[in-house]
Amino acid sequence: SKPIVAVIGRPNVGKSTLFNRLTKSKTSIVDDTPGVTRDRIYGEVEWLNHKFTIIDTGGIEPDSTDIILSQMRRQAEAAIESADVIIFLVDVKTGMTDADTHVANMLRKSHKPVVLVVNKVDDMVHQTMGMYEFYNLGLGEPIPISSGQALNLGDMLDEVVSYF
Ligand code: GDP
Ligand code: MG
Repeated sequence: SKPIVAVIGRPNVGKSTLFNRLTKSKTSIVDDTPGVTRDRIYGEVEWLNHKFTIIDTGGIEPDSTDIILSQMRRQAEAAIESADVIIFLVDVKTGMTDADTHVANMLRKSHKPVVLVVNKVDDMVHQTMGMYEFYNLGLGEPIPISSGQALNLGDMLDEVVSYF
């Protein structure tokens, strides 16, 4: 069966925008599993000779840091359990947050392959400085992308498929 790649990260970092950029399939399904994740959307991605299933997690619109943190913890646990590779998406515009640090610690302990991806780098020349703080998450070299402008997605995908 095909490898599974889960996209996790705080609300609004651009998970769904990335998912929509990468998937061409119109056959996404929504799986309501109460208590685990609100919804998971599955799509199919092809990159070079590789095919994989990508999972977008999300759902509720949290309005407090407590809710964001508990939702991210569940996302991370589900991804650690079911994914072959995890894309941990962070946002250069908001910078690093406590929730990012917390989830990074969970991911490191899991020993699953994690690709740390910094989204919203719409200007690869002038926004790269903001990327460097994400080295502090201890998940290796952050890969800058712009899901909005479709920039650098190939470099990200190369790294993802290198773990299959
Ligand atoms: P999610 O909650 O993580 O699924 O985030 P969404 O995909 O819904 O995106 C949240 C907001 O960020 C939306 O307004 C998107 O248009 C915006 N966004 C997503 N990717 C980018 C990007 O690469 N650059 C910029 N400037 N905005 C983005
Ligand atoms: Mg979303």
